[in-house]
Amino acid sequence: SITLSNRVQSVKPSPTLAVTARAAAMRAQGKDIIGLGAGEPDFDTPEHIKAAAIKAINNGFTKYTAVDGTASLKQAIIAKFNHDNGLSYQPKQILVSCGGKQSSFNLTQALLNPGDEVIIPAPFWVSYPDMVLLADGVPVCIPTSQEQRFKITAEQLRAAITDKTRLIFLNSPSNPSGIAYSLEELTALGDVLADFPNIIIATDDMYEHILWQPGSFVNILNAHPEFYERTVVMNGVSKAYSMTGWRIGYAAGPASLIEAMCTIQSQSTSNPTSISQVAAEAALTGDQSFISSMCTEFKKRHDYVVAELNTIAGIECIETDGTFYVFPNVSKLIERLDGVNDDLDFAEYLIEKAGVALVPGSPFGSPGHIRISIATSMDNLTNALQRIKQAC
Ligand code: PLP
Repeated sequence: SITLSNRVQSVKPSPTLAVTARAAAMRAQGKDIIGLGAGEPDFDTPEHIKAAAIKAINNGFTKYTAVDGTASLKQAIIAKFNHDNGLSYQPKQILVSCGGKQSSFNLTQALLNPGDEVIIPAPFWVSYPDMVLLADGVPVCIPTSQEQRFKITAEQLRAAITDKTRLIFLNSPSNPSGIAYSLEELTALGDVLADFPNIIIATDDMYEHILWQPGSFVNILNAHPEFYERTVVMNGVSKAYSMTGWRIGYAAGPASLIEAMCTIQSQSTSNPTSISQVAAEAALTGDQSFISSMCTEFKKRHDYVVAELNTIAGIECIETDGTFYVFPNVSKLIERLDGVNDDLDFAEYLIEKAGVALVPGSPFGSPGHIRISIATSMDNLTNALQRIKQAC
């Protein structure tokens, strides 16, 4: 057999994509499986965005672009940051990539040296720790509980920082918890980071627009504008415009770091797809009403699912601030189910006994929980909840 690199052996394939694949495979065998694993909105990409892409193809806009993205998409991104976030950037501070995932990948590759520590609040998006490992860094996860609404405190942050800390990932609203930090909470975390000027801050704002908590979206730069020279803001069109397959994400930050990230990208994927860039520009500059109708629908489903889950003995589910996930604590339920010892067993139990596929909390760094995606129809959610109740 072929001996593989130590690097690849240090990481695992994305567990969220694996659940979706497993559900599809079981369905192909004729099994009736409801998938609550999806990390993508269940809506079609809006028509005007698709039309822009089709026009791009017909116009022959099908060649390499600049590695960092087309000038006009970058202008649209700059306008978006100005308008939505009160942030001002120059084109050399923007890098367009093949999805938000590549933005974080570029960042870790461009920034980390062997042994550098990266603080990752848990529960976290599954890719952060593995990306850190791929860059020879050391993930330092900070656990949180439902009682603290899955948010780290300033004390926890201070305790996690060492002289090796190089980077911190913040993700609000969060995949998988659905929870967002308030301006006050970000101010408190920033007050700690202010004592450590060498730490770079990555704010992953991918779920910015899928938010229903009162008050508008905020990130660490709104709380601490003086961190501008050491903060990378990452966002994309995948979730807000239901464009996961188009693969467009973007990062904004200090020019020297963005340039280094661009060098990494130039030797891996080069530019993101030319056609998708036109589509992303149409998304950012066109009619935004899609976002609020999607949010309204997600909120309806959220209210239903949270209420239903809380009727099941042993499940505790808090209301989220946004995203299309809920992240119930199922540890008391696990205690009373025979042959189910942890959340991994529980997810297996649900797919086998109830035909419901979802992702256990462990890969997100929070054992004893499960992630339920509400990015599926009300019918599917109603059926799935009935099946879960029965099986539990
Ligand atoms: N960041 C977070 C928190 C996510 O949940 C995701 C997708 O699941 C991404 C980034 C990456 O999104 P994409 O690469 O599809 O643009």
